[in-house]
Amino acid sequence: MKLNKTQLEQVDRQVKRLIEGDSYYGKMYRKLGITGVSSQEEFEKLPFSSKNDLRNAYPLGIQAVPDEEVVRIHSSSGTTGKPVIIPYTKKDVDDWAVMFARCYETAGITKLDRIQITPGYGLWTAGIGFQLGCEKLGAMAVPMGPGNTDKQLQMMQDLKSTVICATSSYALLLSEEIEKRGIRDNVHLKKGVIGSERWSEKMRDTIQKNLGIEMYDIYGLTEIYGPGIGISCSKQENIHYWDDYVYIEIIDPVTGKPIPDGEEGEIVITTLVKEGAPLLRFRTHDISRIIPGECPCGCKYPRLGIIQGRSDDMFKIHGVNMFPSQVEEILAMVDGVSSEYNINLAHDDEKNRDIILITAEAEGRVNFEEAGNKIRGLVKSKIGVTPKVTVVPVGTLPRSEKKTKRVIDHRDQ
Ligand code: ZN
Repeated sequence: MKLNKTQLEQVDRQVKRLIEGDSYYGKMYRKLGITGVSSQEEFEKLPFSSKNDLRNAYPLGIQAVPDEEVVRIHSSSGTTGKPVIIPYTKKDVDDWAVMFARCYETAGITKLDRIQITPGYGLWTAGIGFQLGCEKLGAMAVPMGPGNTDKQLQMMQDLKSTVICATSSYALLLSEEIEKRGIRDNVHLKKGVIGSERWSEKMRDTIQKNLGIEMYDIYGLTEIYGPGIGISCSKQENIHYWDDYVYIEIIDPVTGKPIPDGEEGEIVITTLVKEGAPLLRFRTHDISRIIPGECPCGCKYPRLGIIQGRSDDMFKIHGVNMFPSQVEEILAMVDGVSSEYNINLAHDDEKNRDIILITAEAEGRVNFEEAGNKIRGLVKSKIGVTPKVTVVPVGTLPRSEKKTKRVIDHRDQ
């Protein structure tokens, strides 16, 4: 999807403002001889921005306005190294609220709703974003923050909360507690707004079954306002995003080249009107696609597909981009197969062909050969790649307390 005329003008204004302000990116653009952007081609020549830049500019190097205009900072904690600090102006905070309120509206939430907010408040953008949008909409916020499940459930019943905002794992925990305590009849929840991490169908089904609520996925990242730049609609598989605030392009994560609408790649975001810390062509490492055409839900804003995973996890086999998450989803469809697995990639020199071997675990009652055939068939029909599959007894594969390494690539890179 190309920049429209307004977006192009907005980007041009951002570039000029960054150069004038002599911030981190202003200096970078000046060094590259960039003075503005007047076409899609020029835009696509702008360098990407990244979390690494933000670390280099720590703490406030990317601030693009005078100090008196900054009203707040937020920070994303990297797993490694320095955190990232993002300064916000009054307008940035207001814009974020407008976008977030639009998310709630897209989910059919109104002023009459009572929104229980369980994500954390503070440096992180989560809780405060949910709160801002709620107040902008005019609904009642129940600002719980994380943890303390007893109190969460008490407030949920006493205040008759109708919307729960949570990470998928906390929503699951709450739904299981409600089920276990047999208090579902006292719970008035109708909708859930769930943070943007990728979560499995199995998890969604369990929450939906336990609570009987509609669920919406909210999208966003701290570097770009925070959660609220997009949300899924009643058609589930789509995330509408607000193209009057952000421009989204999809690129090949390896070559950095743009990818046509409809095809999967890395989401790259440009903020169109952000003041405190504008980011142009920010690489999110989230994988999705732009869905062409209009959504059957009637919403006119453009759409992303659901987030498939992180580009860091992606691998290529037989010319097809694959993610561990796709294998995870398939394993969840096979009865008696556990969620543990690994994927080995190798090259058969004789046939000059890559080999993919999926190792999965199954319970003793399962016929391993049949389970293996089923997995192979599903991978072939859903992903278009034919793997070799080995099924082993549950508990065979190594467990790790840290993030388990799912993909082992033995090919020469
Ligand atoms: Zn829609």
